[in-house]
Amino acid sequence: MSRKMWRKPPVKSHYHVVIIGAGVHGLSVAYHLAKRGITDVAVLDRTYVGGGNSGRNTQIIRANQRTAENVVFYDEALRGWERLSQEVNFNMLIDQVGLTTLGHTDFSLERLRLRAEVNKAVGVESMMIGKERLQELFPFLDLSDRPRLPILGALYHPRGGVIRHDAVVWGYASAADGMGIDIHPHTKVGAIRVKDDQVTGVSAVGQEISCDYVVNATAGWCSTIAEMVGVRLPIITVPLQACVTEPMKPIMTGVIMSGDLAAYFYQTDRGEFVMGAEIDPYTSYSYRTTLPTLEAMASAVVEIMPCLANVNVLRNWAGICDITPDFSPIMCESPEVKGFILDCGWGTYGFKTAPAAGYNVAELIRTGEPPDTIKPFSITRFYENRPVDEKASAGTAH
Ligand SMILES: Cc1cc2nc3c(=O)[nH]c(=O)nc-3n(C[C@H](O)[C@H](O)[C@H](O)COP(=O)(O)OP(=O)(O)OC[C@H]3O[C@@H](n4cnc5c(N)ncnc54)[C@H](O)[C@@H]3O)c2cc1C
Repeated sequence: MSRKMWRKPPVKSHYHVVIIGAGVHGLSVAYHLAKRGITDVAVLDRTYVGGGNSGRNTQIIRANQRTAENVVFYDEALRGWERLSQEVNFNMLIDQVGLTTLGHTDFSLERLRLRAEVNKAVGVESMMIGKERLQELFPFLDLSDRPRLPILGALYHPRGGVIRHDAVVWGYASAADGMGIDIHPHTKVGAIRVKDDQVTGVSAVGQEISCDYVVNATAGWCSTIAEMVGVRLPIITVPLQACVTEPMKPIMTGVIMSGDLAAYFYQTDRGEFVMGAEIDPYTSYSYRTTLPTLEAMASAVVEIMPCLANVNVLRNWAGICDITPDFSPIMCESPEVKGFILDCGWGTYGFKTAPAAGYNVAELIRTGEPPDTIKPFSITRFYENRPVDEKASAGTAH
């Protein structure tokens, strides 16, 4: 008989590490802790495994950010995705179809050129392409002068693409469980216990669990968790929406993004078009979708590829994103509460970073020191006025 993806162990009264959030981040940290022999670990989630943004995102992976700090980190993650299916013996359906970011104004072309140069300097393949190459890559693109903002050129990143988010969640969960990690869905953390500025445990669905470390990997909910230990995060929570159309014949390969039009899309291997939008213009913890956002993303996509004008949208959905002022993540131990580990600030772009975040946060817990790659992403940067200004973290303009 085949093994279940993960066991249903009883909740123990003590764990060395309690990870709050069974999304890609919590599960990746658990997986990397287990690889280091640290298996006295529980992953708790208020809902089902992957029920947060990890099962709601549009699956895009890439490493063509703008700042050197982020390009190095995202490239480490992309290399992680490239080996992960084999490493955990679970097919995550990675598809590096290439990622094209359109420029519709001189100003955005200038910014894309800057990214290409930073990418190349750090060793990430990324180049500017003109309309001729765009026409070859995407025969149905409207490259005429007709649109409100005509396409002028693009940044092309061949190693970008997609990886199936449900497969990723299950692959990580199954691999971590197989090494002895306890995964407890439907186990909401209601309080975190702290004594003498040191984490001592959590209270989850009425049960007290003592522990030495608590990892906050709760994305849009991370401020509510930090509040439990009296830590204020420089993070706002904002909904992000996406949608998917009915399937069509395959007409394009690759991901197209447009910061100027605040939308992105690609055709899946089933023929559907997945489309994403700009964040909602207000903070909220709501998972509700809205017609204005659906209209905005659909009209932007139709402007780029008019042949999609009569395609029906099958469904749309939302997640809630944890956005920092500089659009870079926060990975560190809280300077205020010992043992309280932050793995958050992943905004609209954090799915793609899970392999590198899990590796580095596990190292931080094992050694007590942040590895060099994540040193720039400490929360202290906001107190010391050294933001890592990552304007290219999102495919859209925010
Ligand atoms: C529509 C949309 C499209 C996106 N597209 C992309 C993309 O293409 N590429 C990309 O890289 N990123 C994308 N993102 C962002 C990405 O999905 C997130 O950054 C990433 O999934 C965050 O993962 P996580 O594991 O930190 O959080 P999540 O997957 O959100 O997991 C957090 C978990 O914490 C749990 N939790 C919260 N409070 C508690 C509590 N009190 N007790 C126990 N558990 C709790 C939640 O139930 C949840 O399961 C997108 C996001 C959205 C919404």
